[in-house]
Amino acid sequence: MSGPQKEPMFERIALIGIGLIGSSISHASRRSNLAREIVGSARTPATVETAMKLGLIDEGYVTAAEAVEGADLVILCTPVGLCGPIAKEISRSLKPGAILTDVGSVKASIVRDVSPHVPEGVHFVPGHPIAGTEQSGPESGFAELFDSRWCILTPEPHTDGKAVEKLRSFWEALGSKVEIMTPEHHDLVLAITSHVPHLIAYNIVNTAEHLERVTDSEVIKFSAGGFRDFTRIAASDPTMWRDVFLNNKEAVLDMLGRFTEDLTMLQRAIRFGDGETLHRLFTDARAVRRSIIQAGQDTAAPDFGRTHGQTTPSSSAPAKKR
Ligand code: NAP
Repeated sequence: MSGPQKEPMFERIALIGIGLIGSSISHASRRSNLAREIVGSARTPATVETAMKLGLIDEGYVTAAEAVEGADLVILCTPVGLCGPIAKEISRSLKPGAILTDVGSVKASIVRDVSPHVPEGVHFVPGHPIAGTEQSGPESGFAELFDSRWCILTPEPHTDGKAVEKLRSFWEALGSKVEIMTPEHHDLVLAITSHVPHLIAYNIVNTAEHLERVTDSEVIKFSAGGFRDFTRIAASDPTMWRDVFLNNKEAVLDMLGRFTEDLTMLQRAIRFGDGETLHRLFTDARAVRRSIIQAGQDTAAPDFGRTHGQTTPSSSAPAKKR
């Protein structure tokens, strides 16, 4: 991040969807003076009202089509499955020369669903900030969310280079580091680093919950660190994650196949008392954590720097995740 801009980078940014990511973009844009004006729309009037009250947007609109009028940057911040229908709705209202982007956690399906509705003269540059928390809604955002996190852009080869560079500068000014790749490569990488881990978290928490009925509430009572960490991930928004799995089917199934093979290997090692294999695999896995810390993508503090003994909801700051 390079400090506040003297002149805003954009005249009018339109946020379609003002939840965790939309509100964080607003906070970070205000911090660095990236927009003369930020406007937005959401599904419900209550969200637009809250966004106005919090100063996230200067103007709120009932429809996405109204919100994008006159905007030189339009950011779709809704669940992935809605990007196509919203692109169709706003198509005729987009300003010529505008940059249209999104923040969806899946990229190939968004390119497939949005591109047909992008009018001539509008530059569509898909994006995905690899930053988030398990919280959602307009009140959950904060300006630092994107600081030092990666943002991946997946433009088509024919996309206007100036538009791509402008969006890159925007994300850098929001605090991110930017990388460009194809949508398909993005979906493969994110399947293993984000999507499958979420699926495992949802599954393990549900298995424990089913078990809860035969263990007389002991799962909650004695919940250990490992299980608690899974419950944090599994507290993520169900609509957002439903759309991720419906839209990154092939890559997720591919990665789940590999995961199942590796799990079977661990199962066999346990069954046959093969301590050497278990120790080797755990040592390899431990090295991955060290690499993430060395790359500056997480804290080296024990237990993610949590303050033990102060676990009331009000004392816990939003935890970053990839
Ligand atoms: P969120 O907090 O649940 O917010 C979603 C927003 O979309 C809400 O403002 C919602 O409005 C709005 N919305 C839903 N349907 C709409 C419609 N038809 N028209 C206009 N707005 C609509 O979600 P989020 O966490 O910000 O996620 C948004 C996107 O970011 C998703 O595509 C997700 O894949 C991606 N992403 C999320 C994370 C993460 O960790 N959360 C990280 C990176 C990327 P109402 O409030 O009125 O329902």
